[in-house]
Amino acid sequence: MDNLQKAIQMIKESNNIVAFTGAGVSTESNIPDFRSSGGLFSDLGKKYSYPPEFILSRTFFDQHPDLFYDFYRSKMIYRDALPNDSHLALAKLEEMGKVKAVITQNIDGLHQMAGSKNVLELHGGVNRNFCMNCGKEFSLDYIMAKGEGVPSCDDCGGLVKPDVVLYEEPLNQQIMHKAIEYIAAADVLIVMGTSLVVYPAAGIVDYYRGNKLILINKTETPYDSKANVVLHEKAGTIMRQMISSLDKV
Ligand code: NAD
Repeated sequence: MDNLQKAIQMIKESNNIVAFTGAGVSTESNIPDFRSSGGLFSDLGKKYSYPPEFILSRTFFDQHPDLFYDFYRSKMIYRDALPNDSHLALAKLEEMGKVKAVITQNIDGLHQMAGSKNVLELHGGVNRNFCMNCGKEFSLDYIMAKGEGVPSCDDCGGLVKPDVVLYEEPLNQQIMHKAIEYIAAADVLIVMGTSLVVYPAAGIVDYYRGNKLILINKTETPYDSKANVVLHEKAGTIMRQMISSLDKV
């Protein structure tokens, strides 16, 4: 049995699957990841004189909100992006009662747009924004409407911040605990489109206790040796084949 068939067999036999996804799941929706060649980190030297990790840090946001928002609007927001086969397959597997939760490092909201209901966003999401002074919530439209400059609260004038976890900021502990619970209880864990180098998020894979860890990533990751099935291919291609073979059952 080849690796894809092994993965399909595991999915067929289980009703307790958890998925853990990263930026690679959204590259087929034309949202660049960070670390692929052609990803955001390789593309930035041209315009920005700071490394992207620094621009996306809390220190930078506090000190240069104008430059942060310039970068954020032009490099982190993809309003025309639509879910691809990976997002759609996970939503379908949830609908079939197989996937219990999608835990994602992504901030793009595409899992929810695809129809996934139980999505745990470890790094927050671009669709939620709030006033740092009074807590009022704002849509992404509000952030983008201004085009440039720093968005401020229309009630109190406070600085509006995206509900995304910046470098130096802690993860939401409640979401992290829930994610760990799902992973620890999972029969099958599908890890997809993540370089598994961004901590503490990547560390949650260590909580998986089963022997059906399916890792789908174009390039090698530090967890390849721990996975039971490794597929170094495009996530969309694999998930499309997976769903079509389940449909045949
Ligand atoms: P990463 O950029 O570090 O790694 C992405 C991985 O996905 C790479 O190993 C790459 O080889 C692989 N990949 C790319 N396209 C693929 C495809 N079609 N199929 C399978 N694999 C593919 O991303 P990360 O590990 O998620 O960490 C980066 C951090 O930045 C995370 O917090 C992430 O959420 C955030 N980020 C989010 C978005 C988004 O929301 N879409 C985009 C960029 C970065």
